[in-house]
Amino acid sequence: MPEERYIQVILPLLLDWEPYYSLPEGVESLVAGSRVRVVFASRHYVGVVSVAKAKPSGVDVGKVRPIEGVETGLPCVSESELRFWREIADYYLCPVGMVYKVAYPSLKTEGELVESRQVERLRKREEALAIKLEKARPSNRERYRSQLEAVRAELRGESVPVQAGSGIELSPKQQRAEREISAAFERGKTALLDGVTGSGKTEIYLKMAAECLQKGKSVLYLVPEIALSRQLEERIREHFPGMLTYHSRLTASRRSAVASTLRKGGANLVLGTRSALFLPFKELGLIIVDEEHDRSYKQDSPSPRYNAREAAIMLAGIHGANVLLGSATPSLESLYNANKELFVKVDLKERFYKADDAEIEIIDTVAERRKKGMHGALSFRLIKLIGSCLESGKQAVLLRSRRSYAPAVQCTECGYIPRCPSCNVSLSLHKGQNGAPDRLLCHSATCEKCGASLQPLGFGTQRVEEDVRECFPTARVARLDSDSTGEDVGTIKSFERGDIDILIGTQIVTKGFDFGNVALVAVIQADNVLGLQDFRADERALQLLEQFRGRCGRRGASGQFVIQTREPSHPVFRCLKENDNASALTENMLAERQAFSYPPFTRLIHVDIHDSNEKRLYSLSQALAAELSACGMSGVTLVGPYAPSHEFSGGEYCRQIRLMLPRNRMLRQNKALLLDAVRRFETARRYTGHISLDVDPA
Ligand code: ADP
Repeated sequence: MPEERYIQVILPLLLDWEPYYSLPEGVESLVAGSRVRVVFASRHYVGVVSVAKAKPSGVDVGKVRPIEGVETGLPCVSESELRFWREIADYYLCPVGMVYKVAYPSLKTEGELVESRQVERLRKREEALAIKLEKARPSNRERYRSQLEAVRAELRGESVPVQAGSGIELSPKQQRAEREISAAFERGKTALLDGVTGSGKTEIYLKMAAECLQKGKSVLYLVPEIALSRQLEERIREHFPGMLTYHSRLTASRRSAVASTLRKGGANLVLGTRSALFLPFKELGLIIVDEEHDRSYKQDSPSPRYNAREAAIMLAGIHGANVLLGSATPSLESLYNANKELFVKVDLKERFYKADDAEIEIIDTVAERRKKGMHGALSFRLIKLIGSCLESGKQAVLLRSRRSYAPAVQCTECGYIPRCPSCNVSLSLHKGQNGAPDRLLCHSATCEKCGASLQPLGFGTQRVEEDVRECFPTARVARLDSDSTGEDVGTIKSFERGDIDILIGTQIVTKGFDFGNVALVAVIQADNVLGLQDFRADERALQLLEQFRGRCGRRGASGQFVIQTREPSHPVFRCLKENDNASALTENMLAERQAFSYPPFTRLIHVDIHDSNEKRLYSLSQALAAELSACGMSGVTLVGPYAPSHEFSGGEYCRQIRLMLPRNRMLRQNKALLLDAVRRFETARRYTGHISLDVDPA
């Protein structure tokens, strides 16, 4: 058979090669990107042609099978998409088929529930806009009319041409930042906008987006999580009624509608989470990465374990697009890149409404407890501050960085700490609601060893809620954490309306909300934020606390930020208090990373091994570590195998090997050697499917 009758196909599988197929008679030659139906290992798949004219090598040509057919109903994958997949696969050491799998998730519909909610939301919006339009002053009428038209078109399933945002007027400081960003773009650099909360980063994003759209190019606006971005979504829609949203919880039909709009070309604005990177963009001009430090940008599992911030830069490279990263607390990785002049850092250190930063008060809980100055989780001082906050008609938000009632319990008689029999992690106590019994996950609240009562260790959000209710019996108190998902949106809305006085929650309360009436934010047990056994612990703590601080005093009035801790002299707290010190602390953190050869000074790769058989896991992970040490990588430090924090997950035991690779010319070669060694090991030991690689773990 002539060469042009063979093709290579990418399949949505963990397969590190692309099988050959032949074209049966009657099938015209195909182009790369075509979708074909094939059989592989007795199963049917829809694959993507990666090489249209292939020369089979290393296989018996006689055994190459014909494709079953061409999938003409499905869109072709573009050349730039294929290039992007390859770059991701190369960098993150994963089969390109796994990238195909995330880029084109299976087309099965996931129930019509989400879809109908979406329609319901649009209907409500339509109603609200119709009323607004009726009551609007003449000057606003046009805006509401176009928004209403956009909503109606979306309800009809039509795409709406995005309109360049109007009415964005930047302040002089913001204008200067905008000019610096544009200058960076002209030099082909990524811009890193380092601006305090409330400085108007979002306004700058919108302005840059409008300029890009005016040039006829598309914009991708990435956010860490869509659920937390409702307010932002509304704000962007005001300026760009035809904006598209994209995230993995949309129905398949909605996702493909967004993709086909993009395939038609033209200037589009997409607000999306990390998976939006895999949309079929044409003429992409700008990628905005909001809250670029956020951990949610990293996909932990399954592979490809990519970081959307880095992937955005790869995608922009392919399209010749610009990248704008923004944060109030940039990641050390990005600051390092700015120091190396790979990025241009642009500062915006003044709040738009000129409010001072929230005043910080650090309360030493050890000292307070000694003085009997605590009521449960709350210090008397904090109780007093919350009291005066409520008296002045303002709202308060309390952060407790653990979700259940108490992280762990201990028997008051024998000291026994119950652990989950399947994962060996201490169990936590969940208080029963509305008369339901307390749950110790699946246990009762008595010691299984001696029958005495169990005592909570530390305070969970439920416990904090009880203490708060005791101290403020007439206040309206609500809790926001992942234990009560589903109600979250409702709770956020009532807090926004002012129907809640005190909101208590886990990390979720620190993220992007913009509530005008919050005058006090407090961290109940800040030590937990620091307690992580991770080299990024301080960086994370600083980011979290700085973001939390940004939640109060957003509209002019400055607020109050209270930190309760057992370790008041910790550098992270000191840095927050002496605000000017932030850059000194980051310099310090960078120096520490360098001293211990941690990223960003090295590239970290985790080799994760999992197995249901613990004994086999132990011996094979030892053997793998030995082989990796001897595989010829140069300058690489290997640690392990050790038990990672997720020692037992998904019903399997886990071990981890940590590799630190120098960032030099040898990096590519080292990565290739590593991948080869792992593949050889898998084949020789028949251990395929047990090992995964995580490049730049978060
Ligand atoms: P950031 O994204 O840095 O947290 P925002 O863009 O949300 O800051 O701005 C904070 C507040 O200030 C918002 O309520 C926003 O509407 C307002 N604001 C910022 N810049 C401007 C501007 N140039 N014109 C009008 N309002 C602005």
